[in-house]
Amino acid sequence: MYTPLAMPDLLRLAHRSAAVSQACSCMPKSFAGWEGMPVSLKDSQLREIGSLITAEEEDLTLDEYHPQGSSYWSLNAPIAPQFFPYNRCRVWECVTCRRIFLRYAEAGAYHIEQRIRSLDPALIVDVAFEGVGRA
Ligand SMILES: [Zn+2]
Repeated sequence: MYTPLAMPDLLRLAHRSAAVSQACSCMPKSFAGWEGMPVSLKDSQLREIGSLITAEEEDLTLDEYHPQGSSYWSLNAPIAPQFFPYNRCRVWECVTCRRIFLRYAEAGAYHIEQRIRSLDPALIVDVAFEGVGRA
């Protein structure tokens, strides 16, 4: 059973996060784009508050959404919940400052890397994936 955050709830969280201005140890970097989880950021500092996952992983597309020519790593890459890698993300909140982050596990050839990105409301797009899914 999957209960992904609805778009209005995701936007509400993102706007609340963007309004946080206090410095906090949860942000050794800006996380404007995807970053590997820094070792300085302890799991205990973040708590899971939701997810964007709608189905079993094998049923989720690997297609990315970049209508403006951005790439996976771009700081301005859209956050499109139905597209990779956002469709694999869980939503985390800093227990101190309440900033919100997206996290997922990127499976590499030899190891799995936890990746993290800030949830920026200006980058969230509500666009449906209408492809055929993973080939
Ligand atoms: Zn924080």
